[in-house]
Amino acid sequence: MKTQGAALKAQAEQAQLAEKVRELEEQLAAIARWETVVQHYKLRALVPDVFVYEYVAPTWDSEPSHFACANCFQLCALHPAQTASTHALPQWILPRTVSE
Ligand SMILES: [Zn+2]
Repeated sequence: MKTQGAALKAQAEQAQLAEKVRELEEQLAAIARWETVVQHYKLRALVPDVFVYEYVAPTWDSEPSHFACANCFQLCALHPAQTASTHALPQWILPRTVSE
């Protein structure tokens, strides 16, 4: 009886460890995806003290040039920086429409 209890306990622990490994693998994959995304952005000051991350499109990408919210970027999240949103630029900065 004691042996059976120990075996069940070991089985439960093994299941927990397998779950933990799966979680960590997911986190690693998410970090790897983020690293790939981050490569295409560079920090830029639109005007003094107003920072955004600018998307620098690789030659094979047709995604339009855009800015990402610098605050969210630091938290590993990508949100377009735009007027009238929680990721707002000051109203006097117009969204970028023409690429250089
Ligand atoms: Zn934001």
